Formats: sequence, structure tokens, C-alpha cells
Amino acid sequence: MTDGGGSNLPLIAAVVADAEQKCHRCQGGLYLSAEVPAVGMPGWQRITLCPVCDANDPASQDLIAFFAIHSVVDEQTNDTFTRLVYDWLTAKRPQGVSPEKFEEDIAAWQQGLYDA
Ligand SMILES: [Zn+2]
Repeated sequence: MTDGGGSNLPLIAAVVADAEQKCHRCQGGLYLSAEVPAVGMPGWQRITLCPVCDANDPASQDLIAFFAIHSVVDEQTNDTFTRLVYDWLTAKRPQGVSPEKFEEDIAAWQQGLYDA
């Protein structure tokens, strides 16, 4: 199943549901992955929906619950699925490095805190 998002999600490159895709964190099967514009930098970033790793992520919980109940998206569940995917894709999530964090990391590096 592939859901490109259509005209409702013009900033989304692709949403892919492929059971063969593995989670980069736990190597388990993913429910979904998506390419979205990176925040604060040019290009795209890949976000994933893993039923294990994202179980406690507020932005992912509703969509994980949907998949726990529905094995397929059909006419009756399409509107709900579309709304949940949109909410998941557009949720605020930590991305990139803030200027403050960058300065902290530089200071720590200069103090030798990253030395083995
Ligand atoms: Zn995972």
C-alpha cells in the first residue's frame, strides 16, 4: 500500500507502508515511513512509525492504535486513517540541532568531554 497523501498533504513526498521495512532502532517491522521536509535545513528527512519504539510517542500513539485494530484501510476507515496520518506527519518532533545545543556541544568538546 502506498499513500502519497494527495492534494491534502502537498509537503509530503511519500508515505510508504511496507512490512519489509525495518526499524532503524529495533530492527522490527515498521508500520509506515515517510519522507518529509527537514525542519531548519534544506532537503528531506525520513520519519518512521514503529509499533515498539514509538509506542510512547504522543504523536504516534493514535496511529499505532489504528493499526492494532485495523489490518487494512478500507472505505469505512479511510477518513480516520487519513486524519491520523496527517496528524502524525505534521506533529512537532525534535529535529536537528538547536543553536543552543550546538554551542553546548562545542563547549563540551573543547573541554575534552567527548574524548574517549
Ligand atoms: Zn522500532
